Amino acid sequence: PPVLELRDLSFGYEKNHPVLHGVSLKLGKGEMVSIAGKNGAGKSTVSKLICGFYRPSSGSILMNGRDIGSDSIKERASRIGFVMQNPNHMISKTMIFDEVALGLKVRGMAESDIEKRVHEVLQVCGLYPFRNWPVSALSYGQKKRVTIASILVLQPEIIILDEPTAGQDYRHYNEMMEFLLGLSKQGITVIMITHDMHLMLEYAQRTIVLADGRKIADDRPERVLSDKAIIHSANLKETSLYR
Ligand code: ADP
Ligand code: MG
Ligand code: MG
Repeated sequence: PPVLELRDLSFGYEKNHPVLHGVSLKLGKGEMVSIAGKNGAGKSTVSKLICGFYRPSSGSILMNGRDIGSDSIKERASRIGFVMQNPNHMISKTMIFDEVALGLKVRGMAESDIEKRVHEVLQVCGLYPFRNWPVSALSYGQKKRVTIASILVLQPEIIILDEPTAGQDYRHYNEMMEFLLGLSKQGITVIMITHDMHLMLEYAQRTIVLADGRKIADDRPERVLSDKAIIHSANLKETSLYR
């Protein structure tokens, strides 16, 4: 079965105001996909339902064939990591090592095992040289990688990123994308919410487009992006910056 399956998912924040109308989706292990759509299309809402912040009004969410509808946010959090759009709120003086180790401490893992795993993940994320720095001293891109590292130590099956490359310069853009590609090759399913057509063409295996709470496209990026009507309804933009 797929790692993640959404079956006919509907939802509204308020009564009689549905914002998702029967969204279905299947994602395989290690797949790397992008989700696009205009502001208000329902991208964040889908993510919040997957993570369990809200319950769908109808439809179901399955992981590896099992309905996770009654699993708590906490139960899902170790299997599905959500990387929020803006890590700039990270102003704490906590050392990077401790920030990334926190989730494992909460789990009650032994100190020596924590140290081993955190060091491995910090290496993978290019953060090992900064392990004793305070989080507040890092750049935007580095903070984003701290957020990702905090999730990776928990060994998730799925990672969802809201605009993973927003606000990053050319070098960090490429670093971030190659890093995410590496994760997908290790079998982690990567979902990127993005409007960046270059990113989709270069890195996504599929592009899913939402419009007004409905899925209007789900295909290889070059096919989706060859449709002018879809580009328009998703408000997609050519980014010449990274070519
Ligand atoms: P996107 O992430 O694609 O920009 P959202 O999922 O944030 O879209 O929003 C989908 C719809 O749900 C929009 O109409 C938005 O106004 C509405 N919405 C989002 N969050 C809330 C909320 N907390 N309460 C009420 N309506 C919301
Ligand atoms: Mg929005
Ligand atoms: Mg959003």
